[in-house]
Amino acid sequence: HPALELVDLRKTYATGVEALKGVSLRVEPGDFFALLGPNGAGKSTTIGIVSSLVNASAGEVRVHGVDLLRERSTAMRMVGLVPQEINFNLFEKPFDILVNYAGFYGVPRDQAIVRAGEELERAQLSDKAHTMSRTLSGGMKRRLMIARALMTRPRLLILDEPTAGVDIEIRRAMWRQLREINAAGTTVILTTHYLEEAESLCRNLAIIDHGRIIQHGSMRSLLAQL
Ligand code: ADP
Ligand code: ADP
Repeated sequence: HPALELVDLRKTYATGVEALKGVSLRVEPGDFFALLGPNGAGKSTTIGIVSSLVNASAGEVRVHGVDLLRERSTAMRMVGLVPQEINFNLFEKPFDILVNYAGFYGVPRDQAIVRAGEELERAQLSDKAHTMSRTLSGGMKRRLMIARALMTRPRLLILDEPTAGVDIEIRRAMWRQLREINAAGTTVILTTHYLEEAESLCRNLAIIDHGRIIQHGSMRSLLAQL
């Protein structure tokens, strides 16, 4: 099965805005995939549906063959989301943020504690495990967001504009972290409006504009056309 398959996905918001007008795409297991497009194209809506934050109006979503709209909890357990905004409690410590998040998703506590240690190390935050997260730098907070999403061991990691508004050094550190995660076998999908980011990280991509996919294929073939 593909890691993700969207078939004729449509979304009309209550306001009447048709954010998605029939989006179809496939992402293969192990891929590093970019969903590219200008502001307002429908990127956040698409990943909102895949991560069960937004209800689709029509169409199909399958995660490793599991129908998200029919078997939501099974499919949801395979998807980890890194939202654009930092949304953990700044008055908690990184270790507790990770353990509590895993607990919320039903990971047994002893296992959550082991994973938190592993993820903090992978995010290069081991020495900050018991520091108030309010005091972390912007880059550290972003890496903690990624570590948190990995606590449930998702097969598919989805990031919404992961490096929007961050400086080049933080971006490079995040790119390194994401490459490692992908190399370890997790399928990674990110949205971005920077072609440069997609070019640096991704093997395959789709370009969405006005709620429709206008390009879908390998990064190499896209670059050959430019
Ligand atoms: P759903 O159909 O997924 O329940 P809604 O259409 O009810 O979503 O919209 C969710 C909320 O987002 C509403 O309160 C809506 O007012 C608000 N909203 C409206 N327009 C926008 C926009 N352009 N960007 C973000 N949020 C918006
Ligand atoms: P992108 O992530 O590519 O910037 P979005 O998926 O956020 O695009 O938005 C697609 C379209 O849907 C835009 O016209 C946006 O204003 C609209 N939109 C997004 N969220 C909502 C919402 N909650 N309610 C109403 N309209 C929305």
